[in-house]
Amino acid sequence: MDFALAPEDEAFRDELRSWLDEHLPPFLEKEALDDDAKLSGQSSQDRRAAWQRELNTGRWAAIHWPEQYGGREATAMQRVISSEVMAEYRTPGMFNTNGIWQIGPMIITWGTDEQKARWLPSILEANDHWCQGFSEPQAGNDLANLRTTAILDGDHYVVNGQKIWISTAHLAKWGLFLLRTDPTAIERGAKHEGITAFIIDMETPGIECRPIRDMAGEEMFNEVFFTDAHIPVDCRLGGEGEGWMVAMGTLGFERVGIAGQLSILGADLRALVEATRSVNPDALSDPSIQERLVKAWTEIELAKLLSLRALSRIIKGERPWPEVQFAKLQWSSLAQSMAELAVDMLGPAGVLARGGPDAIDRGKWTRLYAFQRYSTIGGGSTEVQKNIIADRAIKLPGQARLS
Ligand SMILES: Cc1cc2nc3c(=O)[nH]c(=O)nc-3n(C[C@H](O)[C@H](O)[C@H](O)COP(=O)(O)OP(=O)(O)OC[C@H]3O[C@@H](n4cnc5c(N)ncnc54)[C@H](O)[C@@H]3O)c2cc1C
Repeated sequence: MDFALAPEDEAFRDELRSWLDEHLPPFLEKEALDDDAKLSGQSSQDRRAAWQRELNTGRWAAIHWPEQYGGREATAMQRVISSEVMAEYRTPGMFNTNGIWQIGPMIITWGTDEQKARWLPSILEANDHWCQGFSEPQAGNDLANLRTTAILDGDHYVVNGQKIWISTAHLAKWGLFLLRTDPTAIERGAKHEGITAFIIDMETPGIECRPIRDMAGEEMFNEVFFTDAHIPVDCRLGGEGEGWMVAMGTLGFERVGIAGQLSILGADLRALVEATRSVNPDALSDPSIQERLVKAWTEIELAKLLSLRALSRIIKGERPWPEVQFAKLQWSSLAQSMAELAVDMLGPAGVLARGGPDAIDRGKWTRLYAFQRYSTIGGGSTEVQKNIIADRAIKLPGQARLS
């Protein structure tokens, strides 16, 4: 494989770097961090919204959207380059990550002209926050088992049921939801049918969000209850029964993002060594720590190569299978072992949480220690991913599956 960048990709990377050189330092200076802000807190959201708007002034917020909607029509390679450069510069997070990476492209693919004009600017310009409501108590890995119903009644649908684990739903004005418009489909043994996508105004009467406190002490995700909520017909995205296809497109965008996550891990590892040098330097001469550090570094590089192989397939118009699944597995176990390594390297101060005056990097590493448990669950759990690989890539006999 040729790892050299094409001239247009090099130009893309250089343009992004010089834009960040000019715009990031003044932004960071102006938006001094509120030390008490929680990830889901308002001040953190305001800062993310401000950064997304700043990126949008240079058309760097939604690079993969078509130019007519404010994007750059970036190729898959350029999306990876952008993630790498953003990780290298340690840029703040965006306000509408879900909206920009997944929901916006689905509206562009499935929405009417009216729907595009109504919602795309609100995502891009960070006017409203967006969430993605797929999971239910009985429908996580087995997403097609979802049972929240939307029954057509004149010019609206009546929605009843419950979603769970919906990130930032309590802060969102809008959400992309998957609902069951044909309640007979599961009984008929055709559960992938009869699912429809809707864009829902979270302030609609009959919708209640209850934040769930997670083990990192944050209230980021929610249970969302629907009781006779009336959703207008013009909020349906795509046709009735097309929701599964909408969802698969959305999750497809999620998977390309793995390369960006790996770049963030690489940047985190470098930052971790720097932080250790200042607060617990002796750890860096401990042979067992050295071994774990080198292992983490090597595994990050290996996973990056895997995701480049997936990218090469995407560029050739092929399905990036099974490399993306392998890279997801590799990233999730790495994210957890690195969070454990961080706490061990930083010593006693490494376990101080955000808010304390001596907390390192505002308690980032302590938080990751608990939060990274999510990486082997979200986006398809490790066991289910392994089963898919066992079945379809290695073609192991059925009894070898994890069940
Ligand atoms: C931090 C975080 C944020 C999230 N944000 C969102 C969001 O914004 N929107 C949204 O819709 N969802 C969100 N989710 C939900 C996420 O998509 C689900 O948690 C995920 O799909 C797993 O589903 P589940 O939790 O129902 O687990 P289950 O599917 O019930 O799995 C439970 C356990 O059983 C195992 N298991 C299940 N089936 C099998 C099988 N066939 N063989 C072997 N083992 C199996 C799994 O590996 C797992 O260990 C979020 C989750 C997390 C952790």
